[in-house]
Amino acid sequence: MSVGMFKAGDFRCPAADALKARGYEPVLGGHRRRERLEQFAFGPFMAACDARPRAGGELTENPRPSKPMHDGLRRWTAHAMESYAAAFPEDPDLSLSDVETPWRYSHLAAGTRTPGGDEYHLTVWGRCLQSREGAVRELRLPVNRLGRQPPPESFIAAAALVLAEGAPGPRPERVRIIEFALLDAKVRVLFDGTREEALATYRNHGRAALTALLDSQEYRPGAGCADCMYASVCPVLRRAPGLLGIDEPGRTRRWWSVTNGRNYQVCPARDQMRRLHLPTADEVEHAPAVDRGRALHAYLAERHGSGSPRPCTVKVPEQWVPEGFELPEAERALGAQLLRGHAAICPMRLVRDAADVRNEPRVVRHDTMAEVVVVARPDLLYRDGGAWVWREMKTAARDKPSDRPLLEQYPQLALAVLLLARGDLGGTPGRARIEFEVLRPGGADIEILDPFVPEVRTAAGRVVHVLVGRWLRDENYAPRPGRACDRCETARWCASGPTLQVAR
Ligand code: SF4
Ligand code: SF4
Repeated sequence: MSVGMFKAGDFRCPAADALKARGYEPVLGGHRRRERLEQFAFGPFMAACDARPRAGGELTENPRPSKPMHDGLRRWTAHAMESYAAAFPEDPDLSLSDVETPWRYSHLAAGTRTPGGDEYHLTVWGRCLQSREGAVRELRLPVNRLGRQPPPESFIAAAALVLAEGAPGPRPERVRIIEFALLDAKVRVLFDGTREEALATYRNHGRAALTALLDSQEYRPGAGCADCMYASVCPVLRRAPGLLGIDEPGRTRRWWSVTNGRNYQVCPARDQMRRLHLPTADEVEHAPAVDRGRALHAYLAERHGSGSPRPCTVKVPEQWVPEGFELPEAERALGAQLLRGHAAICPMRLVRDAADVRNEPRVVRHDTMAEVVVVARPDLLYRDGGAWVWREMKTAARDKPSDRPLLEQYPQLALAVLLLARGDLGGTPGRARIEFEVLRPGGADIEILDPFVPEVRTAAGRVVHVLVGRWLRDENYAPRPGRACDRCETARWCASGPTLQVAR
C-alpha cells in the first residue's frame, strides 16, 4: 500500500485501492496504459531530483523518465526544479541528504489468509531525506500548490508511521513531513516530532483509517477507471459499446469528457497540459464571470439538493454567494438577477421526492469499442413521471443568443442525447429529455431536446464523433497557436504562448 491511498479525491477509488492492497489481480483483461508521452506530471521532476549528485559529490544513477515529455511538461519540470531549489536551499549545517532507498514499513498480520500470515507493506512517495547518522528523517511531499486545507490526518499519520518505523536504516529520533509547492516554492510543515509522537499520531489517526481502507467496498467510477486494472471485471463501471460512434479502439485506454474534447478542439497542447494538471493561470481560471457561473451552480446545487424538494423563488437572499467564492459587487448583483429568472423554470416544480433528484452526479461509461472511459457531469438529473430529465444550465451576461447550432455550441448536450437515446439512465424511456436552461439578464430561457428524434440523434453523434475522433489517435498534442492563446490558462508552459512569442 502507498500512503497516497489515504488521500481522498475524485481520482481515487477506495474499492480499487482495497483490491490492490490485498494483492488481487484480475485473471483476465488486466490493462497497462501505453501512452507515448509521459502522463505522470511529477515523474520527470522526481527523476531530475534523483539524478542530482548526492552529498559527498557522488553522482547517482541517472533514472531518466522512461518516456518522452510533452514540451509543456518539460517547461513545467524546469520551473519545478527551480522552485525546489528555492524552497530548500543548500545548507551544509542541515546535513540532510536524499536516501538511496525510500523507507518501507512492513507488518506481518498473523494467521489470516496465508500460512504464516499476511504481509503488509506501507510505502511513502516523495523526496526522502535523512541526517548523516539517520537520527532525523524528513519526507518532502511535492504538490503543485498548497491547498487551502492540509491533507487528511490519516494520510499524515500513515506517513509518520513509515518514517518512524520504516526500513532500511536505523530508527530515527525525529520525524518531519513537509509539503512544498512546485509552483511558488511555498512550504507547509505537516508534522514535526519525535519518533514516539509519530507513532502516537498513527495510533490516533491512522490505524482505524487503515482498516477502513482495507475493507472498503466503495466503488467510485471516474477518470481513474481508464488506468484501473480491474476495469474489465468491475461490477459498477457500466459498459456502453459504441457510445462515441468510433469503430476502432485507440492505442491504449483513455478517459474523455466534453470539457477535454472542447479544449482539444481549441488546442491539443492545452488539453494535454490540463490533463497533466499543470497549474493554470488564476486570472483566466478565476475571471469574475467564470467564478460567478461557478457560484451560481453551487448555490443552485445546494438549494436543489438539500432536504425535500422546494422550487426556487424570486426571493434571492442578499448574501447568496456560497462560502468559498468571492465575487465583485457587479457580478454578485448580476448573479442575483439571473437567479430570480431561474425561479420561473426551476425543475423542482416537477419533483415530489428527494429520491428523484441527483445533483451534479458523475455519469461514467466505458465505451468498449473505442476503449474510452467517458466521464460526464450533468448539472442535474431529475425524474419526471418516471423518466429521467437531464438539465444543463448556463449563464450569460448578454441577452443576444448565438446563431451556431445548439449541439455544436454545447457538446455536453450532444453527449446527453446519445446517452438518453440508448436508454442508458433507466426509467421510462419515452419521456426522457434534455433541458437546456440559459439564464440571461433579461430572463430565463429553456430549450427542450428530444433524444428520440432521429435528426437530433444523428446531429449529436456527428458532434461527439468530431470531438473524439482526432484526439483518440493523437499521441503528440502539438500546440495550435491562434486567437485562443490570448486567454489560454496554460500559456505559461507553452512555447507558442503569447508571452514567449513577444519575448522572442
Ligand atoms: S474500474 Fe473504476 S470503479 Fe471499478 S474498481 Fe476500477 S477505478 Fe474503481
Ligand atoms: S498558448 Fe496557444 S498554442 Fe499554447 S497551449 Fe495555449 S492555446 Fe495552445
